[in-house]
Amino acid sequence: MAIVYNFNPGPSILPKIVLSEIKKNFFNWNDSQSSIIEISHRSQKFMEYAVQVEKDLRFILNIPNNYYVLFCHGGARGQFSAIPLNLKHKFTQPEYIHSGYWSLCAYQEAKKYCSPTCISVRKILRNKVISIQPVKEWKVSSRHTYLHYCPNETIEGIEIFEEPVLNNKIIVGDFSSTILSRKINIEKYGIIYACAQKNIGPAGITVVIIRDDLLMQSNIKSPSILNYKLLMKSNSMLNTPSVFSWYVAGLVFKWIKNLGGLSVIEKNNKKKAKLLYQYLNSTNFYKNYIIPSHQSHMNVTFHLKEKKLTNLFIDTAEKYKLLGLKGHSLVGGIRASIYNAMPIEGIYHLISFMKYFEEKFS
Ligand code: PMP
Repeated sequence: MAIVYNFNPGPSILPKIVLSEIKKNFFNWNDSQSSIIEISHRSQKFMEYAVQVEKDLRFILNIPNNYYVLFCHGGARGQFSAIPLNLKHKFTQPEYIHSGYWSLCAYQEAKKYCSPTCISVRKILRNKVISIQPVKEWKVSSRHTYLHYCPNETIEGIEIFEEPVLNNKIIVGDFSSTILSRKINIEKYGIIYACAQKNIGPAGITVVIIRDDLLMQSNIKSPSILNYKLLMKSNSMLNTPSVFSWYVAGLVFKWIKNLGGLSVIEKNNKKKAKLLYQYLNSTNFYKNYIIPSHQSHMNVTFHLKEKKLTNLFIDTAEKYKLLGLKGHSLVGGIRASIYNAMPIEGIYHLISFMKYFEEKFS
């Protein structure tokens, strides 16, 4: 089979070595004589595996001991509800930073349960370029509450690299499309959460990293399936977890460890993103509308100067084995999601295709 590069935003590319491992062991997982999707989550083999998965994640992200790691249901959207439901009795007026589509969705969901404030940090510059205010200019109140933000807006391709530290605020981050792509300082956050289907594995489990005092204070009356205390007490097995997603996440964590951890991953990601943005900056045929300091390292978005060529670009790219480049319907254009598992060859291939397309149609 010809080499295919998968630029889908999620579900998205997984390391080939992980796919081969799944294939190899599928029918007889870990000598259990059953496949991974038939095994009981309560079997000793799986329970031991789950413990190891958490250990590996803790190691990779350098998670301090005073943080719990939960593997939840419901994707990142589930957490849009879980966070206010678990914290609303303590924090009735949380603050939500609006930097793009997903952070706004989180705010809109929170409105159902508490009285959040929405703080926009987006600015549209004269040339339609989107800029994001630096953290020190965020117009937050002096209230002691939690502040939710999204460090990587997957749809627009906007990344906030600065880690917010704000007086009186407990920082809650939707890290769905940036977790494991670079180092983060967990201690700066109260809660970090992320769906799986970008840098973790297949959709199905959602990682929540929560500081122990917040978990202990969480609302015991929140729905059981979203209840942080119950999830902690049941080792994230209050009900049947997505065993397959958990299993593959474990393989991905091993892959990251073997590569040398997040410093290596981060270096590779910077290199890949730089190559693509450098090329985008060198041409008028394509244009990215995000201010350079906030151009996402995971989701590179751009438009063709001739908008009517967009569909042809996407269709032709598929013929060249470059898949999943269609931008989200809200913003249109092209989006190349270049998560951890995208090899640098995929970027070279994409750039040479873009050059070819430009030469042909400019
Ligand atoms: N937040 C961000 C930043 C996302 O990228 C996504 C999914 N693309 C979501 C939330 C929603 O995730 P899920 O589909 O797992 O609910």
